[in-house]
Amino acid sequence: MSSVSPIQIPSRLPLLLTHEGVLLPGSTMRTSVDSARNLQLVRSRLLKGTSLQSTILGVIPNTPDPASDAQDLPPLHRIGTAALAVQVVGSNWPKPHYTLLITGLCRFQIVQVLKEKPYPVAEVEQLDRLEEFPNTCKTREELGELSEQFYKYAVQILDAVSLEERFKMTIPLLVRQIEGLKLLQKTRKHKQDDDKRVIAIRPIRRITHIPGALEDEDEDEDHDDIVMLEKKIRTSSMPEQAHKVCVKEIKRLKKMPQSMPEYALTRNYLELMVELPWNKSTTDRLDIRAARILLDNDHYAMEKLKKRVLEYLAVRQLKNNLKGPILCFVGPPGVGKTSVGRSVAKTLGREFHRIALGGVCDQSDIRGHRRTYVGSMPGRIINGLKTVGVNNPVFLLDEVDKLGKSLQGDPAAALLEVLDPEQNHNFTDHYLNVAFDLSQVLFIATANTTATIPPALLDRMEIIQVPGYTQEEKIEIAHRHLIPKQLEQHGLTPQQIQIPQVTTLDIITRYTREAGVRSLDRKFGAICRAVAVKVAEGQHKEAKLDHSDVAEGEGCKEHILEDAKPESINDATDLALPPEMPILIDFHALKDILGPPMYEMEVSERLSQPGVAIGLAWTPLGGEIMFVEASRMDGEGQLTLTGQLGDVMKESAHLAISWLRSNAKKYHLTNASGNFDLLDNTDIHLHFPAGAVTKDGPSAGVTIVTCLASLFSGRLVRSDVAMTGEITLRGLVLPVGGIKDKVLAAHRAGLKQVIIPQRNEKDLEEIPGNVRQDLSFVTASCLDEVLNAAFDGGFIVKTRPGLLNSKL
Ligand code: ADP
Repeated sequence: MSSVSPIQIPSRLPLLLTHEGVLLPGSTMRTSVDSARNLQLVRSRLLKGTSLQSTILGVIPNTPDPASDAQDLPPLHRIGTAALAVQVVGSNWPKPHYTLLITGLCRFQIVQVLKEKPYPVAEVEQLDRLEEFPNTCKTREELGELSEQFYKYAVQILDAVSLEERFKMTIPLLVRQIEGLKLLQKTRKHKQDDDKRVIAIRPIRRITHIPGALEDEDEDEDHDDIVMLEKKIRTSSMPEQAHKVCVKEIKRLKKMPQSMPEYALTRNYLELMVELPWNKSTTDRLDIRAARILLDNDHYAMEKLKKRVLEYLAVRQLKNNLKGPILCFVGPPGVGKTSVGRSVAKTLGREFHRIALGGVCDQSDIRGHRRTYVGSMPGRIINGLKTVGVNNPVFLLDEVDKLGKSLQGDPAAALLEVLDPEQNHNFTDHYLNVAFDLSQVLFIATANTTATIPPALLDRMEIIQVPGYTQEEKIEIAHRHLIPKQLEQHGLTPQQIQIPQVTTLDIITRYTREAGVRSLDRKFGAICRAVAVKVAEGQHKEAKLDHSDVAEGEGCKEHILEDAKPESINDATDLALPPEMPILIDFHALKDILGPPMYEMEVSERLSQPGVAIGLAWTPLGGEIMFVEASRMDGEGQLTLTGQLGDVMKESAHLAISWLRSNAKKYHLTNASGNFDLLDNTDIHLHFPAGAVTKDGPSAGVTIVTCLASLFSGRLVRSDVAMTGEITLRGLVLPVGGIKDKVLAAHRAGLKQVIIPQRNEKDLEEIPGNVRQDLSFVTASCLDEVLNAAFDGGFIVKTRPGLLNSKL
């Protein structure tokens, strides 16, 4: 006897109306879902969430009705079977369609229909006791597949509540079913014989294109594919466990009708399994000297990064294993992080694959979806391995600082598992459901900032900062790397286009404002496209150029607006032409191609009024200069702050005002009515431009003080000075971060002097020599020193001698 479970089915059940047979308790059946009502039910009850929830449905047999999709609910059969949805498969294309695998639990009777839309829900009364059915009643399963003509009979069986009555009714059906099976066996055998014949004559058919042969051929091809797949499984070098799973799945596949959605699912799975590089790898070739040359050839500057990468590779070579921290390159966009990753792969002779993690907030992106889920697929790691086709590639985990988090699990946790050398030889993707060894993969991560990298992940990584470039470095990078690459991509040669260094400098200063070289590279791309058009047009033009129309004042150099000359020398008339000259990209050409310069606002213009000072901010995209502006008006001592703000910025503003109020007499600062109480009848408005990050609030302290000191004294701040530093209530200047990026930003903006906290003096060592030469630095330990440096002739009325103004 089976054990009796006290489980009750819910008293309210969503109703699934099926017209493909009758589900009986203990049996399992597949039913296709295509009516709007049933689709709604499946979506809201079964497909919410990543994996299939175990949900009990009420399955009601419904007389096949052509108008089953009609708005109104058809009259419902009163008795149905509560069922567990075991699996949902299907697709959304060409129209939504699912197939449900459901197992009948017990019967119920509808007491009352509670709602009809979007799918019916009814209050029900359980008729059978819910037992744990032993899995013996195999014949009963067959009943689920009864064809339409038995429909009525099956419903009667469903309605037969007494066991004896039910038994009597089913016996004739079972007998019939067995007979049917026998018949089926016979026809199968016939078909197999026929198949053999078809295979034998197929080559001839293919050539002659006999109409009508197509369908048979498709089926045969599928069959052939399965045979191939089986062979691949047999010969694959996958580990034993994976092999076992494949053998089991292919057996299932062979029994499945091709029309079943699960067929395609299983087949895709098996195809992935045989395709994965379980045992395929490239042989590492590592020669540190060659690696150094390659890194140097591919990348200008970035000495610190290249040095650390070489050390890392050398240690790997000596230790011959990969255990150790994961390198993480942190820096603004376009400074070459990805590019160095690619070079590492190249030096090792490994495949390279980039996995973009920006915005990934679902752990199944990393670890895959379970196969029960509609549209399930493996995660990015397994997909990456399939793409590269070897098990030891270099994976660049791009933008680990932009991983998200959501209800669908934490991708960072999944990534930890991937990166952990203790665990990753056994990485199990949910889709694959067998372990794949990731221990040979070399992972490198990149990020714009460490602030948002999940701490556990940060702990596994060795951070290497990659700062932005100076103008000079950018010019070198442009001429050594970016321009040659762009020319090649556009099929141009240096004989057709010339970009002098002054033009590059123009692009850097007037068309881009970035720490890296990404937009610079794009601008070269735009120039090359424009020139390519000119060159191509020129090649098709008649030789009718008069050389006198070369731009005046440009010597013999031609610029972009002139037509290039035809190249062909086959035509006799061409021989008379002067040799072809490259198109020179000067500033006029630049304006034609890129439009008017984007960054031409003169700094001095903005500082032509009191109440403006230039601060330096650090952002994940590099350093930035920021104009802090202040104005005052009649009021009641209110402080208004606008722009990019956070609590820290507000605190800095309040500190600054308090310090100025307490020092108003000393500096002769007055409000509009001339007294020292700065907020008396006065409101102050401070504006911080968008773009600066809130987080960097403290370092704006000295700038706010300077800006307000200018407002209350009516004096102008020097237009060539930028500053950064945190302040205290007593007027001390505290150190801040990001000095190198900030100084580079000041240099980019063409400023001449930078005020930094004294305790940041050591950071100046990191600044490239040429930038240090162009700038003078003031290191300040208190606000007096800041103000003295920020205003021409100093700010303090009774100046102390010995102002520290060092030119490094
Ligand atoms: P990131 O990954 O830091 O955002 P990329 O590696 O994509 O930046 O770099 C953008 C482009 O700039 C690439 O074409 C890269 O080769 C080039 N690049 C960046 N830095 C350098 C450098 N120091 N030397 C040569 N090319 C560079």
